[in-house]
Amino acid sequence: METKNYRFETLQIHAGLQPDEATGARGVAIYPTAAYRFKSCDQAAKLFELSEAGNIYTRLQNPTTTAYEQRIAALYGAVGALAVSSGMSAILVTVLSLAAEGDNIVASPFLYGGTYNQFRITLRKLGIDCRIASGERPEDFEALIDDRTKALYAESMGNPTCAVPDLEGLGNLARRRDVPLVIDNTFGAAGYLCNPFEWGANIVVDSATKWINGHGTGLGGIIVDGGNYNWANGKFPQIDGPSEGYHGLNFHEAFGPAAFIVKCRVDGLRDMGCAPSPFDSYLMMIGLETLSLRVRHEVESARKLAEYCRCHPKVERVSFVGFDTHPSHENARKYYRFGSSAVFNVELKGTLESTVRFVESLRLAANMVMIGDSITVVTHPASTTHRQLSDADLAAAGVTPTLLRISLGLENADDIIEDFEQAFSQIG
Ligand SMILES: *Cc1c(COP(=O)(O)O)cnc(C)c1O
Repeated sequence: METKNYRFETLQIHAGLQPDEATGARGVAIYPTAAYRFKSCDQAAKLFELSEAGNIYTRLQNPTTTAYEQRIAALYGAVGALAVSSGMSAILVTVLSLAAEGDNIVASPFLYGGTYNQFRITLRKLGIDCRIASGERPEDFEALIDDRTKALYAESMGNPTCAVPDLEGLGNLARRRDVPLVIDNTFGAAGYLCNPFEWGANIVVDSATKWINGHGTGLGGIIVDGGNYNWANGKFPQIDGPSEGYHGLNFHEAFGPAAFIVKCRVDGLRDMGCAPSPFDSYLMMIGLETLSLRVRHEVESARKLAEYCRCHPKVERVSFVGFDTHPSHENARKYYRFGSSAVFNVELKGTLESTVRFVESLRLAANMVMIGDSITVVTHPASTTHRQLSDADLAAAGVTPTLLRISLGLENADDIIEDFEQAFSQIG
């Protein structure tokens, strides 16, 4: 399908769908196959040396997953996308495709808890130094860049405080220092709320588990390649240089602007093995069809619930990017459609214990660690996502004992407000 001129809402339904000549089927098929029969040994050899594109083995590619990847790439206006088994594996494959032992990456201090641990513990053990900037301003990043820096890394909306960095400033810094800018755009909802490529990002990673799937029915991650980084600058011999794994093939010469995403697939997925199941790719593809409708509703409901909470006597503070009191309000207006998010934070008055009682009194809203689900979720970061952090790191991440993170679902917002009302009545 020619995708250039259609708008997001149309692409989310049509992109990636190929007419099925054999059956006329309207929907994308699920191909539950591990491997693919070669037409000949000669064809197999060409597929293996990457001189011909095609299916070899589902760890590398699968037709259902390919359709889903094409839809994602179209939504972002990108050269290619790679689906993997989770958001965490998208981040891991991306960083390991860019950096090796002795290299470093510079990251924002406002990171998803899992990312923080992957960077600070696991990648460090592999000899990749993950430097956490002292703040999220471009100058905070620049202070840590040296000639072994292989990526700048930030979230387009930081989990859990909803901090929105100056994406354009980071894009300018990345270009000036000639380092790829990687943005975790999970909150940007596949580009519907925020498209970091418009501001100079080179690579996007996204936990598809959240708004792309949208129904809490499966895990997934995607890597998206903007095709806008010049790999021929001598810093990335694994991309512009002879590849050890492919008899000296040079990815940049062979695949041009798609070099990075091809490398992530044929080296990253081949070696790390974090391929998605075709059934999960199917769920992601169906989830994408309604993404804009879901996100619109969730963002509207978030505002209603945030306004209700803001006026409640048992609430200490509401931190919602849609309010002009939020430190990232102006950045959200610049980078996010509706200047807003489906997620916000509430700090209750009282103690850890009364906060736990509140959470356990909720009947509709679910006590889970999840965002972007069709059901409303209330998360208590201090006892869950941020439990492994020290007190100092907790304070730096903005997590207090009475903080709750709320991600609005698809219910009628008034029912959620009534649920909160009854839960508030349970605490002193
Ligand atoms: C959930 C999440 C991840 C990790 O994704 P999984 O699919 O759970 O592995 C990474 N970044 C952000 C911002 C997330 O919210």
